[in-house]
Amino acid sequence: MTACSACGDCCDPVWYPWGAADIRQAASRAASGSDLAFAAEHWHATGERRGDLHAYRCDRFDPATRLCTAHDDRPPICRGYPWYDEPPDHRLVVLPERCAFQADRR
Ligand code: SF4
Ligand code: SF4
Repeated sequence: MTACSACGDCCDPVWYPWGAADIRQAASRAASGSDLAFAAEHWHATGERRGDLHAYRCDRFDPATRLCTAHDDRPPICRGYPWYDEPPDHRLVVLPERCAFQADRR
């Protein structure tokens, strides 16, 4: 089974299909601890776009260690990454080039 190499690339930046205004609006109706509530609080749009995706800097990412500082309270979208208990190659997942899970796609 593939193991995460902790390169940090999936958090630097985080790619998400919604813009910041949509995230904020949806988060106002979302449960605490949900993806959207967490994203509205901790993800900051960089302005970079890739097709329909928006880039975010997560303020719980430590750029020095490249590790998550919210490991115990990170939201489901981060916990389940990349395959979310689905077979590999889930097409909505953005997999960075050097992600160890690229091996699952070969
Ligand atoms: S909470 Fe942690 S795993 Fe999720 S985007 Fe931020 S740094 Fe990455
Ligand atoms: S990009 Fe892949 S290998 Fe790197 S930290 Fe994220 S899940 Fe782990």
